[in-house]
Amino acid sequence: MTEHNFASAVKKVRDALGPDCPEARAPEVSAVTSPLPGEELTEDDIVALLDTGPQEQQTVFALADKVRKHFMGDAVHLRGIIEFSNYCVRNCLYCGLRRDNRRLLRYRMSIDEVLKVAAKAAAAGYRTIVLQSGDDFHYRADDIARMVEGIKRTAAVAVTLSVGERSRKEYAVMRQAGADRFLLKHETADPDLYRRLHPGMTLEGRLECLAHLRDLGFQVGSGNIIGLPGQTVQTLAKDIMLLRTLDVEMAGIGPFIPHPDTPLASCPPGDLAMSLKALAVARLALPLAHLPATTALATLHPDGRRMGLSCGANVIMPNVTPLEFRRLYEIYPGSIALRAPEDGGIAEIRTMLSSLGRPVSETCGHSPKPEWALPTRVADISAH
Ligand code: SAM
Repeated sequence: MTEHNFASAVKKVRDALGPDCPEARAPEVSAVTSPLPGEELTEDDIVALLDTGPQEQQTVFALADKVRKHFMGDAVHLRGIIEFSNYCVRNCLYCGLRRDNRRLLRYRMSIDEVLKVAAKAAAAGYRTIVLQSGDDFHYRADDIARMVEGIKRTAAVAVTLSVGERSRKEYAVMRQAGADRFLLKHETADPDLYRRLHPGMTLEGRLECLAHLRDLGFQVGSGNIIGLPGQTVQTLAKDIMLLRTLDVEMAGIGPFIPHPDTPLASCPPGDLAMSLKALAVARLALPLAHLPATTALATLHPDGRRMGLSCGANVIMPNVTPLEFRRLYEIYPGSIALRAPEDGGIAEIRTMLSSLGRPVSETCGHSPKPEWALPTRVADISAH
């Protein structure tokens, strides 16, 4: 990629942002701004932005921070994640929860346990609860619906589900129960790489699930892993293009971390700089998406959360799973979640955020897009 490509990609974003770039507009106002900065970025532009050295990348980071501030504001949303089961029927080559990992002690939390943990998290101040598990069909859609209803009955929180691939009918049951959002990462936009890494699964199948979730009115989250073996900068550009095509309300973009009990044990972890660049370019391409500074990023580098928040991120997902189970939800080893207290480390996070001049959001942090801000739509999902 030439310097020209880089300069023209940066110019496109700057032009769309405007010369005065007003500070932190209210999300509902910014949602109607047109054109959005990333709308005109082509795949070649995205490659040019990703394929940068240490100096140019500072320009990308600063621009992403500006776009984040302009469209999403300074507040950081905390989403408390409960990992309620580490059983999984899938066999993803990179994941410690894969079916063939016989070394992992498996657990399942009961619905009552989940509700107790969620109530505690809500009392600690979380305004979104994320329920995540391996693809575990022991829980029927009705069981997950009972978790959602139970949480919604007792706390004014949004609920995000991240329970993998299910049928449209099952997703409908979960949505009907009041689930607001669903997170299903596409992992990689390269169909061949997808097939190699996910035995028995296809990118097409993943996208079909995402289409059902969209149709059913969930706020949809997807995302990808940085540094998978066989991935190129072009693949990463396709990931960001796909996220834009899907018009996701959130995107989890974090580095690959090798797990010793998987076929990818000897592969190197994702690169820190590329992980930050991918996050920053995603912010440029998706100004209105919620983007977490991921736990994987914070596991890769002790200052990862802070770095992510300075490169376009506006969300943190602290882990509130009871400690006895948390250590068994080993997607990859050494997660920073293992060093956090039962409440996910809210006090420490507040201190870190205040040193960055970033307040903790007091709202549920729904998507700022107009369709989610309209009163009718808000009424049928949940309170802001
Ligand atoms: N079963 C659900 C699903 O597939 O969406 C949610 C659980 S899955 C373990 C959550 C995420 O963990 C995946 O989307 C994947 O991106 C991430 N993950 C798994 N193994 C990883 C690894 N070794 N490094 C980084 N991320 C990993």
